[in-house]
Amino acid sequence: MSQPVEKGTLYVISAPSGAGKTSLVAEMLKADEQLGVSISHTTRPMRPGEQDGVNYHFVSRTTFEAMIARDEFLEHADVFGNYYGTSQVWVEQTLARGQDVILEIDWQGAAQVRRLMPDCVSIFVVPPSAEVLRHRLTSRGTDAPDVVERRLREASEECRHALEFDYLVVNDDFSVALHQLLAIVASQRLRMDRQEVRHAGLLSALMDDSPSR
Ligand code: 5GP
Repeated sequence: MSQPVEKGTLYVISAPSGAGKTSLVAEMLKADEQLGVSISHTTRPMRPGEQDGVNYHFVSRTTFEAMIARDEFLEHADVFGNYYGTSQVWVEQTLARGQDVILEIDWQGAAQVRRLMPDCVSIFVVPPSAEVLRHRLTSRGTDAPDVVERRLREASEECRHALEFDYLVVNDDFSVALHQLLAIVASQRLRMDRQEVRHAGLLSALMDDSPSR
């Protein structure tokens, strides 16, 4: 009889924009092939360099609303005027295959996922200081002052929810932050509830004090 597949772990990673979350997640995926990332659906317009089906599934509001009506999202939220959502089927099937899944979503989505899947592990990523955040959000130089102000407001709104998360990673040195994220993943895999199943034979042999050993 084949061994039952051990279910994957769901990671929820949120951050204010400018924290480096997307680059960190990309490196996590390269470093650990047991990790996969969910590609969200969104109604926001595609940015230069983005690809449909790679960065997001770009859909119209009508399509998105039909998906909500069919209950196809694990979570969805209106983030700064556009809809974003996570496919329920994809997440469930991927976890059932034993793969770990990362959701890169905002605090509203994180709160919904925590309610539905209390075993998820949630991580908040922040830049090293308010000044660095301000600099990262304003340094493009091409944006109108009201766009910059809006971005700053949105970033502080996101940060107000940091304490709702299980872990906090400060992205000052990128490689340190990456190692910290990978350490969180490693620590979940070493939890006793998982290890006792994987190493049941070893543990019972070690506990056996019969003289015939
Ligand atoms: P952006 O449009 O800059 O790619 O993302 C804007 C915000 O939407 C980010 O905070 C990002 O994490 C969040 N986001 C991306 N995908 C999803 C999703 O599927 N659900 C939710 N709730 N937020 C998402």
